[in-house]
Amino acid sequence: MTTIEQTTPAKYPDVRNYIGGEFVDGNGSQYLDVTNPATGSVLARVPLSAASEVDRAVDAAKRAFPGWSGIPLKERVQVFFRYKTLLEQNIHELAALVTEENGKIDSEARAEVLKSAELTEFACSLPQIVAGEVMEVSRGVECRVERFPVGIVASITPFNFPNMVPNWTIPNAIALGNCMILKPSEMVPISAGRIAELLRQAGLPDGVLNVVHGGQATVEAICDHPGIEGITFVGSTRVAKIVYRRGTASLKRVLALGGAKNHLIVMPDAEPEMTAGNVVASMSGCAGQRCMAASVMTAVGQSDHIIERMTNIVRAMVPGKHIGPVISREAKKRIEGYIAEAEQQGAKVLVDGRGFVVPGKEDGYYVGPTLIDYVTPDMRIAQEEVFGPVMVIIRAKDVEEALDVQHRSPYGNAAAVFTESGGVARYVMEKASAGMVGVNVGVPVPREPFGFGGWNESKFGVGDITGRGSIEFWTKSKKMTTKWNKEAGVNWMS
Ligand code: NAD
Repeated sequence: MTTIEQTTPAKYPDVRNYIGGEFVDGNGSQYLDVTNPATGSVLARVPLSAASEVDRAVDAAKRAFPGWSGIPLKERVQVFFRYKTLLEQNIHELAALVTEENGKIDSEARAEVLKSAELTEFACSLPQIVAGEVMEVSRGVECRVERFPVGIVASITPFNFPNMVPNWTIPNAIALGNCMILKPSEMVPISAGRIAELLRQAGLPDGVLNVVHGGQATVEAICDHPGIEGITFVGSTRVAKIVYRRGTASLKRVLALGGAKNHLIVMPDAEPEMTAGNVVASMSGCAGQRCMAASVMTAVGQSDHIIERMTNIVRAMVPGKHIGPVISREAKKRIEGYIAEAEQQGAKVLVDGRGFVVPGKEDGYYVGPTLIDYVTPDMRIAQEEVFGPVMVIIRAKDVEEALDVQHRSPYGNAAAVFTESGGVARYVMEKASAGMVGVNVGVPVPREPFGFGGWNESKFGVGDITGRGSIEFWTKSKKMTTKWNKEAGVNWMS
């Protein structure tokens, strides 16, 4: 990571940390420019906070914890009913901010904020879900299980969903009684400040949520801090491994979600219109910068009629209108490099998104949607995460060969099959080595109350990051055994 001096006046003032209910300066931190990927212009500067800022945030969270965790769950969730309403009332402004710092087109940014509202809705329903268990286990002896918050927790988030991914963790973790330090991506830090403001407006007490901005050094301070009990991480597999190892080495519970390489298996009997539309939407939505984006299509048997339709849809897409920019100049260069290498190795580029320039946004980081046919499984573009609007097509003779290609990927976030055969669909759902599988669905994101989480190198740790699957992570259970009626007699538990 490099720190760069600000060369042009920024649109917004310097981003500030949010500690103990107050926005505070980075306390002598170095600063990094935050740019608008559609124009390349500077939006703000973000502090790269030192370990001392993490200390301050943990102290604030510790002060808030006894009060917040002492309130009954039914009362804590009232904050999130109000927060959900505020997300909906402010959707226009929140979506505009996502577009500005991340580059998503407006419809995608609005969908992101609506998803944050759905995640919050789930947190509001937690009192109905986490009611404890109770049972008479021996004559007159009762066992019950109650859930307690873990304590001070941290959530480290990536650049691709500045509003939604923080809301994967904030509502559930905080409603369940924890106090949190959020460390947003330094590339998209502005939305996090608005989330903190809305939660304050919704009545969240000071210190329950703290936001500390920064990069590697800030994350390392979080992993090492003895006052933090649990960490969730969402980002690349390279960093997920670092955070998982470092956090667990200091005896914290860690759930670290990593990168992806999602495979769609298209059978020759797939419904052509729907399949072509879904496959293209999956690979090009959010400019391919989704951990659920399809990036490999394995075309089984004779699928040329579907590929032809996909080519027509992709050719009609207008960058800047139907598809936003990628996050940075470096990302654009990396993605275009993968395309060039595949072409040199003999793949056939059906639609080429390299060198795209959007009139009026000549300095934006645009890559047009790209389709590449006759890619072989050994090519780098077939194996590594490209994280751009690029779909590679691998030809396979049958479903076994298609599954074999999927199994060779080290990742395991999502996989899907397009077919009209129930038997084939069930077979692929069972055999695909991925945590989230779909049938005739290009982006098989489970919606609440189902949890989100992959397999293999797409997730390290136990449980899911959202939905019911997250409750175990954000709480510790206490098992209570009691006996009040001595009339029940004596047994081995008395
Ligand atoms: P990233 O790994 O570069 O950054 C994620 C976070 O880690 C950021 O907050 C960043 O500041 C921090 N970080 C970066 N380098 C670090 C280092 N060396 N040590 C400690 N911390 C460091 O990821 P990104 O580029 O922001 O996001 C894109 C990646 O996230 C893709 O790989 C994508 O697949 C993945 N992602 C995964 C999921 C999922 O659910 N599995 C969801 C969204 C994004």
